[in-house]
Amino acid sequence: MYNLTTRRILLPTTRQSSSITEDDSPVEMENPFKKERRQCILCKHNITPDYKNYRLLSQFQSPYTGRIYGRHITGLCKKKQELVETEIKKAQNCAYMPYFYKDKMFLKDPKLFDPENPVRSHRF
Ligand SMILES: [Zn+2]
Repeated sequence: MYNLTTRRILLPTTRQSSSITEDDSPVEMENPFKKERRQCILCKHNITPDYKNYRLLSQFQSPYTGRIYGRHITGLCKKKQELVETEIKKAQNCAYMPYFYKDKMFLKDPKLFDPENPVRSHRF
C-alpha cells in the first residue's frame, strides 16, 4: 500500500540533500527549437549523378513528356540539380536516354519525390 505520510516526510528531505543553488541555476541543454538540417536525396546517400547511371537519371524525368523535373519538384540542392540536368543531357546525347518520353523499362521504378505536390514559395 502507498503510504501518504511517509511521502510527505520524504519530499523535503530529498530537497535538502541537493543544494538549493543547483536547482535554480539554468540547465545546459541543446536548443529544442533547432530545425533539422535538410538534405536532398542525393546528398543524403552521397551519390554523384553520372550519365552512365541512366536508370537513376530517368527517375528525374517525366513519364509523359520526358521533361526534366525542376528543383521545386525534385527537392534537390542547386548543385546536384544542375549536375542531374547536365548528366541527363549527356546521357541523351549518348543515346542512353530518350528525349521525349521515359524509357518503358523504368516506368515502374520507385518515385523519389511526388511530382503532384511541388514545393513552391508561392501558391501558383
Ligand atoms: Zn544536395
